[in-house]
Parts: sequence; structure tokens; C-alpha cells
Amino acid sequence: MSFSEVTTFLEKIAPLAKLSREEITKLETPDRVLKAELSVNGKKYPAYRVQFNNARGPYKGGIRYHPEVSEDEVKSLAFWMTIKTAVTDLPFGGGKGGVTVDPKKLSKKELEELSRAYVRAFYKYLGPDTDIPAPDVYTTAEIMAWMLDEFEKVTGKKAPAFITGKPLELGGSKVRDIATALGGVYVLEEAVKKVGLKDKTVAIQGFGNAGMNMAKLLAEEGYVIVAVSDSKGGIYDSAGLEIEEVMKSKESKGSVVEYKKARKISNEELLECECSILIPSALSGVITEKNAGKVKAKIVLELANGPTTPEADQILWNKKVLVLPDILANAGGVTVSYFEWVQNKKNQSWSEQEVKKKLQEKMISAFTQIWKEFSDEKKSFRTAAYVLALKKIVAAEKNKTKNKS
Ligand code: NAD
Repeated sequence: MSFSEVTTFLEKIAPLAKLSREEITKLETPDRVLKAELSVNGKKYPAYRVQFNNARGPYKGGIRYHPEVSEDEVKSLAFWMTIKTAVTDLPFGGGKGGVTVDPKKLSKKELEELSRAYVRAFYKYLGPDTDIPAPDVYTTAEIMAWMLDEFEKVTGKKAPAFITGKPLELGGSKVRDIATALGGVYVLEEAVKKVGLKDKTVAIQGFGNAGMNMAKLLAEEGYVIVAVSDSKGGIYDSAGLEIEEVMKSKESKGSVVEYKKARKISNEELLECECSILIPSALSGVITEKNAGKVKAKIVLELANGPTTPEADQILWNKKVLVLPDILANAGGVTVSYFEWVQNKKNQSWSEQEVKKKLQEKMISAFTQIWKEFSDEKKSFRTAAYVLALKKIVAAEKNKTKNKS
């Protein structure tokens, strides 16, 4: 979504959150847009860090490496992080970073140089209590380790809480690898209870970190996974797929379509297939005004960021499909990032059980708060989530102003 679409959406829901003109202006204006040009082997790469809002705590958000990264995109993503941390009640604001680069075209040495250059460009504005980066598209735990090392070098201080998504041995948190999917499972379980859904058939688009872990976790919980897909296409079996077997096919042959015991379907067919729960876990903008009317699921859980266009969202709302929005459904990742930050600050290492329990509490609490706001049935679950988040940010802004005066 472009930043102008973000602000249009904000203007649309502002009356529901009873925001004043001044509050809207504040909420659609990033605090700081930092830009740099990073040089690696004679080539230059535009780099950004947008610090959107820190009324509720330090800026928090990942760094994306992608050829299509732009200032506009990083601004939208930083806005969403502000909303996401408020939805889950994390004591953070929102920020995001990015470099316009195709990382697949760089050697490992160049990738390391680029990552270190990013930190040197922005380190004065980053830190455990000011702005805490994390991984995003095409940035990994290894890249976080290089960035941490560079930050500690230039500042001359040990600061593991400067960045999250680190390897375990450098202070990363247990469960971080499956956190997004597991957070989604906790949200889904609550929704299934509220809606009283009996038929637990699931279709999942995307079979990467988010989608594959979701399929595995849900199958373990007794859900029937009838369809999965990746960039090469999908497979369907109304009796349920053997997820462990599908994972093996994906690992050994590169795609789920190599699993031969199910019918092949296209990614478009997957979105419209016979199931009660649909989980888009790959790209944005896949549920559109063209196919939303054909979606058969009763619940859509947005594990991907922005999979539903605003027009499709309206169609699903009219059809009484419960859409669990990305700002809640995939917030498990940033929540465990928060746990990582706390562990680093307190010099602790929590067990897997402890992290899972805390994640479950956070996700259920966020879901319950939104459900209360939603149950007047005048607004969608997504709008309810936004209204709640915006109110929290505005309240924190007021507090900030009071403390200053
Ligand atoms: P990933 O790269 O691990 O996996 C992406 C999957 O999508 C792959 O299986 C790929 O084959 C598939 N895919 C690509 N193009 C496709 C297409 N045209 N149709 C169907 N499938 C296609 O990425 P990920 O980390 O799983 O992220 C997926 C989505 O979840 C993204 O929208 C991301 O922003 C969101 N998300 C991920 C996390 C996380 O912690 N991984 C956190 C929050 C949000």
C-alpha cells in the first residue's frame, strides 16, 4: 500500500476513533525520515530509516533488502509497525528500514559490507532505548549479527538489545523462528471459539517461514489442511494433506507441487477453494474485488502483510467473513522480538515454554481487547483493531505533551 493510501485509510477511520484534525495530522506524519547512500564495491544503494512514532516507546521495526524498496514504502511499513506494537500492547513505537538492493546479486562479503555500512550511516539515531531494528524481507539472523557487531564497534559499548532476530548464541530468543505462525495459531484458536466454528478445514497460500510453520502447527492441533501452495502453484485434498510429507517434497524438490498424492491447483483456485479457514501467507494484494466474492472460508487469517485490498475487505465484511487482520494475526514475530529485547536488557534467557506462554497471553489479550471493540457490529474486526491502536497512540501522545509542559 502506498503512503497516500495509508493516509486515506486513516482519514476514513478517524471519525470512529474520534480523532481531532491535529491528532490525525500527527498520526500521518513520521517523526523522522533518514536517508543515506551506501557504497559497496563502487556501487551505490539508497538506504532509509523511518522513525514514525515513539509516543509509546522506542521505535521498533525491521530492515528490508529488496530492489523495490522506496522511501514511500518504508514510510507505510513504519506506520504499520506503530499500529502493530500498539495492538499487541508492546512498549514500542514504530519504525522501519530498507535498502534498495537485490541481495541475491551480492556476494556474501558485499552483503556484510552493505549491512555494516547501513549501521554506520544511521547509528547515531539507533540504540536499545531509541530505535531497535530487526529482520524483514531478505534480512537474516546472520545480518543482524553483523549489524550488532558494527554498532558495538562504532559506539564502543556492548549492546545486545540494540537489535532483535539475532542468532541464539548472540542473545536471540527461543521460539523466534516460529513466532509469527504460533502467534497466528493463538489468534485463530480464539476466533474459532468465538465464532463457534466446527469445521476446521484450512487452506494456506505460501509455504515459507510463515505458511509452512502455520501448516505444521495447525496440523498438530488437529486442523485439516486441505490446500497449500508456493510460488509454483498449489495442491488440494479434501480429506487433508499429510503436512510432514508435503514438507519433505518442498525440501527435497523445491516445491509443494511435487507432492504427488493430491490434486494440483493454481494459487488463484486456492483462494476460492472449499475450506472454512483461509490463511494468505505469501504476497500482498491477493484477495481482490475480483475474487473476494468467491471466497468460501468463514475466517480469513492474514499471516501475510496486506493480502486483502480495501475493496475486497468491504466485500468480505458484507459476506460476514471474519477477517483477522495482519496487524494482529502476524504480530507474533514482533512480540517475540520484544521478549528478546527484555531478555537482553535483563541478561536472562527464557525457556521455550516460558516464551510460548508469554506469547499466548499477549496474543489472547490483544484479540480480546479488539473483540470487545468489534462486538458492536458496526465496524469490521480490522477497523476495530485500528481504532483501538489509534486511541492508545493518541493517549500516549497526550501524556508526552503533558510531561513536556
Ligand atoms: P518466505 O520468503 O519464507 O516465504 C514466502 C512463501 O511465499 C514461499 O513459499 C514462496 O514460494 C511463496 N510465494 C511467493 N510468491 C508466491 C505466489 N505468487 N503465490 C503463492 N505463493 C507465493 O516469507 P515469509 O517470512 O513466510 O513471509 C510471508 C508473508 O508473511 C509476507 O507477507 C511477510 O511480510 C509476512 N510476515 C512474515 C513474518 C515472519 O516472521 N516471517 C512476520 C510478519 C509478516
